[in-house]
Amino acid sequence: MSHVLAAVAWPYANGPRHIGHVSGFGVPSDVFSRYMRMAGHDVLMVSGTDEHGTPIQVQADKEGVTPRELADRYNRVIVEDLHGLGLSYDLFTRTTTGNHYAVVQELFEGLHRNGYIVPKVTMGAISPSTGRTLPDRYIEGTCPICGYDSARGDQCDNCGNQLDPVDLINPRSKINGETPQFVETEHFFLDLPAFAQALGKWLDSREGWRPNVLRFSKNLLDDLQPRAITRDLEWGVPIPLEGWRDRSDKRIYVWFDAVIGYLSASIEWARRSGDPEAWRKWWSDDAARGYYFMGKDNIVFHSVIWPALLLGYSGEGDHGGEPGELGRLNLPTEVVSSEFLTMEGRKFSSSRQVVIYVRDFLARYDADALRYFIAVAGPESQDTDFTWAEFLRRNNDELVAGWGNLVNRSVSMAAKNFGAIPPAGELTAEDRALLETARAAYGSVGGLIERHRQKQAITEAMRVVGEANKYLSDQAPWKMKDDLDRMGTVLHVALQAVSDCNTLLTPFLPHSAQKVHELLGGEGVHAPMPSIVQVEDLDGGPSYPILTGDYSTGSRWESVPIESGRPLAPPKPVFRKLDPSIVEEELARLDPGSRGHLRVSHVAADPGD
Ligand SMILES: [Zn+2]
Repeated sequence: MSHVLAAVAWPYANGPRHIGHVSGFGVPSDVFSRYMRMAGHDVLMVSGTDEHGTPIQVQADKEGVTPRELADRYNRVIVEDLHGLGLSYDLFTRTTTGNHYAVVQELFEGLHRNGYIVPKVTMGAISPSTGRTLPDRYIEGTCPICGYDSARGDQCDNCGNQLDPVDLINPRSKINGETPQFVETEHFFLDLPAFAQALGKWLDSREGWRPNVLRFSKNLLDDLQPRAITRDLEWGVPIPLEGWRDRSDKRIYVWFDAVIGYLSASIEWARRSGDPEAWRKWWSDDAARGYYFMGKDNIVFHSVIWPALLLGYSGEGDHGGEPGELGRLNLPTEVVSSEFLTMEGRKFSSSRQVVIYVRDFLARYDADALRYFIAVAGPESQDTDFTWAEFLRRNNDELVAGWGNLVNRSVSMAAKNFGAIPPAGELTAEDRALLETARAAYGSVGGLIERHRQKQAITEAMRVVGEANKYLSDQAPWKMKDDLDRMGTVLHVALQAVSDCNTLLTPFLPHSAQKVHELLGGEGVHAPMPSIVQVEDLDGGPSYPILTGDYSTGSRWESVPIESGRPLAPPKPVFRKLDPSIVEEELARLDPGSRGHLRVSHVAADPGD
């Protein structure tokens, strides 16, 4: 029993999320959190929408709304999508809360006090016609590295290199085409090299990480440079220093504020729980564990930058120092990074319409069908392709014909012949073997989930489903009309196996697990679900929707003997068999031109694309 933090990547609120996003961080973190709770751990699962930064400012300008209005819109869309998937956040909040601003500023001040934040003069762009600052993404030009002629000020989409606008060849404003003027501007930098030693020591002490994540993280330490943490921008968290606090043209850089969200969301959760100090059990206690879930493009923020902020605030980098008022803060136990999901052999891309949004998916298919695909065939440790043909096959052949069929035929045969769970008579070796297989799987499946081997874990659970199906076919209880005692025993054993398989699959398939629980005559909440609650900002800002829930009432990770005599009703199918024609229909939707109404622009291209 320990305190386990599940820190889940923060979706950027400039558009709806597609299934590639939720397969990287959303579903795997929920499977893990649900299992750990069932196994008796005290889990705190937090995240929220990431709402600052230039892309949101740019898109809001384009639409003639305020950045806050744009963020409000997509915050709500994302909250509803994650709710639809049944992701069991203790708190899913946002970065535009008063609480988040206060925690970000506290970390900034603590790092500054300890000497890890230093001012530096750099060259920034302004518009000659208006005199206003031109943020990086408003500038484009030719990439100095690869020669691509539409590189953005902060990044080249062709070669992927991070850029500085001043390095662009023939820079021009995306707003009016004029040539920007570069003037001196002062910014704050995080002294990352001062953490190289402490980060190296910490990474060397990590065990059980995916080898590619650990290797990639260690390689990053070879070339640590001071990194700008403020920006010429009006949309973001103000810089909490004398002479800077009231400036409207300088803000903390979005990546700096977003990673602090894990901590601020934990503090917000505690403040809402009635015990404002409760977050410390996950952040200050040496025995607590923290797992961070994200796609591989975000590893650097979680295995280098966030630990550096935590070390600096705690006074544990080369410059020493004292912990701030929040005290010494725990570093991640593990950074759990997934690889990328592609779509029919192509990269997900909103602008090229190679995409399916979570909302559209859930309008046509069940959440558990997607959760199953992600768990069994998702990008856990290598890039993986989503195809509609494979989705159809997994759904129909495995979920419906495998697990759904086992539930359906054992419950309906027992309902029809006994009207209730029949008692078991004397057990044969075959009966005992199946019951033992199911019981043994708790240890193996649970251990695999705890070590983030979800693909192996669900495969193992489905192997037990296969054993149970084979048992039913071999025993053929439908031929035992003349020996109802033996028929009852076989069905009792089969229903016990159904109950066990259902518990083993609950972290993966919570919606259908609740249904199967009820089919077996069970009452109450087996797999708790999150709810959307409209709350007041704790520090006086506008109200907003959060995802939260009470997950203490769900079933435990253990075999529960089924009760003979408990009434059974004839079952309804738990899963929907899909018609093969969906493959053609969905491929036609992917066809460029058929979705020309997409509200996507190049200026505000989704950073997750
Ligand atoms: Zn380039």
